[in-house]
Amino acid sequence: MTRHPRVPPSHPFRRAALRWVTEKRRFDALPREEHPIVMNSFHSSPRGRRRRPQSPRPASSTANNGFAPLLSGSPQQPPRAVEFRPTPMTAEVEQAVAQSPFTALGLTAPFVRAILDEEYAVPSPVQAEVIPLVLAGRDVLACAQTGTGKTAAFVLPILQLLQASPGPGVRALILTPTRELAAQISERVAAYGRYIRVRHTVIYGGVTQHRQEVAIRNEPELIVATPGRLLDLIAQRLLRLDSISHFVLDEADRMLDMGFVPAVRRIVAMLPARRQTLLFSATLAPTIETLARHMVVDPARVSIAPSVTTAASVEQSVVFVSRSEKGRLLEKLLRGQASSGRSIVFTRTKHGANRLCEQLDRAGIAAVALHGNKTQSARDRAIGAFREGTMRVLVATDIAARGIDVEGISLVVNYDLPNVAESYVHRIGRTGRAGASGQAISFCDSDERSLLTGIERYIRRRLPERAAAPEPARTASAQAR
Ligand code: AMP
Repeated sequence: MTRHPRVPPSHPFRRAALRWVTEKRRFDALPREEHPIVMNSFHSSPRGRRRRPQSPRPASSTANNGFAPLLSGSPQQPPRAVEFRPTPMTAEVEQAVAQSPFTALGLTAPFVRAILDEEYAVPSPVQAEVIPLVLAGRDVLACAQTGTGKTAAFVLPILQLLQASPGPGVRALILTPTRELAAQISERVAAYGRYIRVRHTVIYGGVTQHRQEVAIRNEPELIVATPGRLLDLIAQRLLRLDSISHFVLDEADRMLDMGFVPAVRRIVAMLPARRQTLLFSATLAPTIETLARHMVVDPARVSIAPSVTTAASVEQSVVFVSRSEKGRLLEKLLRGQASSGRSIVFTRTKHGANRLCEQLDRAGIAAVALHGNKTQSARDRAIGAFREGTMRVLVATDIAARGIDVEGISLVVNYDLPNVAESYVHRIGRTGRAGASGQAISFCDSDERSLLTGIERYIRRRLPERAAAPEPARTASAQAR
């Protein structure tokens, strides 16, 4: 075994210590931008020395209500560190911070300043309710859909609490169902925490473990993770959760749908009993309440969008169409879209998504498929191309599309109606985000009428019929309604 002067032969954990030293050296040798851990504001030197920040932080994003400027990499590449010379606030910024409604919620200057950079003028309802509760240390059970600004509602106050009482070990864990969502939350952490020193990293499966191991050894204070890979790392004794003081379970309803509940329960059992827990879910169905009962203590309940509402900014309609006519109708709709708009088409199956993509390609409409059978890098490429606008049509299955937050999605088409009524709400929530307007058009063939009834019952409204379907199919199905 290699000798190392810093690891005496009598060291009780000599093998582990030597491995640590080797890993540290390898980490030191990585170019800075490839460090698998993100530390806002400062990079920790490997030996604990603090380096001075070296470069000014990049100019603030343009009209940034979303993620685009931060999404330099794919989920496979952890977000790059945002370095900046912490310039003092100008009098103008100081005044804007003092007058911001976010300051009135109890957030301090570094966070309000980051919000100003994001150009959020007023807190969204979920932020207005949740931020003060989290800052007061309460557990929260929140019914809020994606697109309501819920990420900022938990990330901002948790960062402030972490900053206020630093401590050893991993202090905050944000558990999410999908890799895409984990990566996006991690980017939000980088954005909202850009004026503080916070070490954070993101952990998910489907990519090699090595970089995540290295990131963990560098002692992140906050981890965003999906359940499977997190449990793998814990089982390998690479990570412990016994110093967590803030735990967020995001999209609990989706965790349930995806069969993650046993994994979530195992993770929760490893957390210290004294902690703050925030549970977010698009619905607070009885199953979620049961799950929550074992996690939260005397929670404050926040219900922003009742589980059955759909965003008012989304214009919804249904088209009765035969199965064989769906393709032609879709082509017509996509051709009618503004050249700047993006569209997501949902299919029920992965095969269906592939087939539809090929069909659109043959019709001269460039489309890319996103589903669970694709490799992580293919998924990253698909989302990247869609986000950048080089590919304007994404054909996706429900699970793969979860957590995609791309601005400018003007049209969502339910090529197949979802089997689960709740998924309808999630699907159409891809458009009409952050106040923008969008269209959601559902195709319904004769076999899908019961699914449509289920959806209409769930959202407690009847979807207006759109008269764009080829005549024979429309009339036949509509009559049968
Ligand atoms: P989320 O529900 O967390 O996925 O956020 C949805 C989108 O709303 C994201 O693109 C956020 O950047 C944006 N957003 C969050 N809070 C605000 C706010 N207060 N004002 C405007 N946009 C916001």
